[in-house]
Amino acid sequence: MSNIKPKFFIIYGPPGSGKTTQARILVKKLNFKLLVIGDLLRKFSRKRTDLGRKIKAILEKGELVGDRIVFLILKTELINLLKKNPKGIILDGFPRTLGQARKLNSFIKANDFPLPYVIHLKVPKREIKKRLNKRRVCEKCGKIYTIPCPKNCSCGGRLIRRSDETPQAIEKRYEIYQLQQKLLSQFYKGRIIPIRSVGEIDEISKKIIERIREIND
Ligand SMILES: [Zn+2]
Repeated sequence: MSNIKPKFFIIYGPPGSGKTTQARILVKKLNFKLLVIGDLLRKFSRKRTDLGRKIKAILEKGELVGDRIVFLILKTELINLLKKNPKGIILDGFPRTLGQARKLNSFIKANDFPLPYVIHLKVPKREIKKRLNKRRVCEKCGKIYTIPCPKNCSCGGRLIRRSDETPQAIEKRYEIYQLQQKLLSQFYKGRIIPIRSVGEIDEISKKIIERIREIND
């Protein structure tokens, strides 16, 4: 691999905290690369390989893909990305378990990269509920809207509430986030960048970028 050492960042926060939005801004402004694990799994599940078929079956049952497979996929993609010499890599949706966090650390140590930092987007629970209740997504193209919005997307598709954004599903996802938060804060102690993710999107990105620039290792 190259002699430039990319910095690793894990972006995480409750559902609706603006993870993807902020991650995409960082990619643009800092020449980072982004790995969204959910997207990667969906991409692999479309491949006509043994692994692809296996992942497809797991996802269709609504089950979680095991640590070993998730990491295998992540590693393959990481190695490809590292060849492009990015200044940094942002992981979205990974690690989710202690096992995944340990596997990632071994990979990073084996390649002599600096250990990851965690960008933790903090939003109060009642604000999360308010945001997700107002969110609609285009059935056809996936574009996200906020109420008040028209009935149809600019592409003609119908705007609907995502099945994992019903009040019940939101509660469940928030619980999962809280469990994950405990795990990550212990494992990545001393490398967490807490950011209050409430207010203007640009102001929040500015805060994140300032904190990233302060990192020296
Ligand atoms: Zn659309």
